[in-house]
This record gives sequence, structure tokens and C-alpha cells, in this order.
Amino acid sequence: MRYDELSIQTHREAPANARSAGQSWLVRAGYISHSGQFLPLGERALARIRAYLKTPADFEQIGLLTLTGAHETYFPMPVGSHDLLRCPECGTAARAETARAKKAGSAAEMPAPLEKVLTPDCPTIESLAALLSIPTTKTAKALMFVSTGSPKSPDFGQTAESRETFDSEFIFVVIRGDMALSEAKLEALVGKFRLATEDEIRAVGAVPGYASPVGVKNARIIVDELIPQSTNLVAGANQAGYHLLNTNYGRDYSAEIVADLSQANPGDPCIECGAPLEATRGWVLASDAGFDPEKILFALAEAHNDEKGLTFPAPAAPFDIYLMQVPGKTLDTLPVAEELYQKLQAAGFSVLFDDRNERAGVKFNDADLLGCPIRITVGERGLQNGMAEIKGRNGSEVEQIPLAEIIDYLRSH
Ligand SMILES: [Zn+2]
Repeated sequence: MRYDELSIQTHREAPANARSAGQSWLVRAGYISHSGQFLPLGERALARIRAYLKTPADFEQIGLLTLTGAHETYFPMPVGSHDLLRCPECGTAARAETARAKKAGSAAEMPAPLEKVLTPDCPTIESLAALLSIPTTKTAKALMFVSTGSPKSPDFGQTAESRETFDSEFIFVVIRGDMALSEAKLEALVGKFRLATEDEIRAVGAVPGYASPVGVKNARIIVDELIPQSTNLVAGANQAGYHLLNTNYGRDYSAEIVADLSQANPGDPCIECGAPLEATRGWVLASDAGFDPEKILFALAEAHNDEKGLTFPAPAAPFDIYLMQVPGKTLDTLPVAEELYQKLQAAGFSVLFDDRNERAGVKFNDADLLGCPIRITVGERGLQNGMAEIKGRNGSEVEQIPLAEIIDYLRSH
């Protein structure tokens, strides 16, 4: 393709609003506009990425060090759009809101009888634990919601009518008092939801501020996996001003679903190997639904640049070759360059042909900016000896190759 056909517009100055080095180079090299729109050169790079990437293993071939989660592949990046938790030991990673961590149940203890105690002025788990002189790990926290939509993976065979009742179901969540609920994990189980109102809470037999699942009716009870492993927890008595000592899952209440519902935090032990998890940020490059070529191009620009511009690896570059014709003083270099352009394309290479009437310096700068892996220069000095000049974008060596041998040379390198 000829340079002018792509309407490439490069920029000397770095954009003021770029959030990262890679984004800045993509703007300067004319892949994206200052407002982030993909330009024809960028579209071409996306098409190449789409055609090349077939499996997540291909990320390694294009020099991207990614983090692999159960369902997604991430590119770690300080300005990335998602909070992630990664394990520095075994390399697993996940979005922070759905990351799993190892959780320790409480020490084995015999279940003790239920006991109602007066607990005035205890609006929080912390104040309750302080009043009773117990750690928050010995408390159960109640969180109450009403479902407003179907779950992401609904049960098949549900009729429309049963779905409707399902959609306004009271959801009673219990997690240990020292944990925070991951709303993303709950949403994956029950679909969209909202906070229950005081009236709705009272309607199932609970009392706001003093709620527990003990004795509630018409509620779908969902507990964190740690609850069945924790004995003698303090929970609300469903009576204003009172709590129950020694509530035990299985004896005092049971749940429809036992699942991981708590938010994992940096420092928590990795679910796979136990090493402390680290916080990072990143982009999602691929999920079960497929690849995100735009994010992959951004990641490539981040991973492959130097002080002169982009340095794309061959499979991800918009073109294999940047063919540059330098106008001569005594020799017309254009016909030879034109012939080489046709021969390279016929040999199966994708070529960007810079036949613009521009100074050599401008063309060399643009070639470096754009980042195609190979630059071939057809200029007066070489042509006098029947040679063209070949340089790899990442190398410093410039080789003079006889015009007739260029295709063989490219195939063997
Ligand atoms: Zn690990």
C-alpha cells in the first residue's frame, strides 16, 4: 500500500493528554487520533492482530507478558482500567472484585447453646465486637437485598412466571464480620440486586441493625463459604437492641447457596499457592468471549517502543516492510523503487511504500515512528551499485543488498 493511500498523518510533538508512552506513540505515528479514534493505519494494525491471534498462547509470540486468570487474560499496566490481584509466586491473576483468596475458618470449637444478649448502641460490627470483647472473626454480618434481574446464567426450564417472582426475591446474605461482601460475586450468583428497604426487611421477620437469618421467612439465604466453617458466631437476634451468641450454621439456619462471596484484598493468601496477593492494574486483552484487538494494540505499543517510536514485532505490525524511496539528485530512484514494491508484494510481503516527495530525514523519522519490523531504502548512492539498504527496526546494522537478492535475503532472515 502506498503511504498516501492510508492518509497517514504523523506528529512531531507528543500529545499532551496521553496517559502512557504507548498511547503517545500511537498518536504520534498516526494509528489513533488525539481523541482516541482509530485511523486507517490503526485499523490496518487491528486487522493484522485479528488475523494473527488465535489462542492466548500467541501473546508470547508477539512479546506481551500477560497475566492469566481463569476466564480472562490481562496486560499489567499502571494506567490500566481494572484493579487486579495477582500472585507473584504462581502468576494467577483476577479482577480484584472477583479474585479468590484462601480463607481460614475459625479454630475447632464445640457449638455452644444460643444465648440472647442485650447490645444497645451497637450499629456496627466493630462496636458490637468491642462491647462483647470478641474479635470481628467471631461475628456474622447480615446484608439484605432484593433481586431486580435474572442471574447471568439462569436455570433453564424456568417459566416466565417463576422468573417474575424470582426477580423480586429477598436475598439474605451472611458473611463473617471481618470480611467485606464482593457485590460482583453476589451478582454472578443472583443477577442484579438493590438494597432491601426497612419495610422489606421487617416483612421477612428481620430487624434492621439486628438482623440474622435465624427465623427469617420468605428469603433466599446465601452464605459465604467461611460461615459453615465458623462456630459460635454472634449474630443479630431480629429484635431491636439484642444479639444472639453462638449461632451455628446448620443447627440454627441453613442456606440455599454456600459460595465464595467475600472481597479478596492485597496480602491475602493466593488460592492456588498461598503466597500473598499483590494489587496491580491492567487491561483485559482476552476473555472467554474472545480477544479485544484494540486493547491488544495498546498493550503492544506499551511493550514495544523506544526513543524513536514504535517497534512492533512482525506478526503485529501493520506492514512487514517500510519501503522508502529517497529522491536522487542525478538518478530517478522512483522506477526502481516501484519495481521493488511490486516484486515484494508478489512475493507475499505486506509493504508500506513511502513514495512521497519528502526529504529523506522526514521519511526516516516516519519509518522509525511507525515501527514496521524492516525498513528498505532505495536511494541514489546504493542504486549506483545496484543495491538497496535493509535495516531491522530493532537493530542498528544497515546492510547493502543487491536488488536482485533482496527477496532471498528477506526469506532467509
Ligand atoms: Zn499463587
